Amino acid sequence: MLSPTKWICSFFGHRLIVSKDVTNHIKEYRCTRCDEELTDTAHGFLAKLTPKFKETNDFVAKIHRRRCSRKVFSKAS
Ligand SMILES: [Zn+2]
Repeated sequence: MLSPTKWICSFFGHRLIVSKDVTNHIKEYRCTRCDEELTDTAHGFLAKLTPKFKETNDFVAKIHRRRCSRKVFSKAS
């Protein structure tokens, strides 16, 4: 059973704000209407932000920062 806000979101789409920058290409989002959390994935689509994705994003962010500081981040997509 969907709550009213979830129903609105499933109909009109989420009203997302960026909650966290993981890399230049990957961000985490939160819906201001229903509080659902989403994330960009490495494959370029939005997915529900599960604990597993959170873990992956933290890991990716760590690697990204290290690569950026060494300026060897060459694999632009
Ligand atoms: Zn929503």
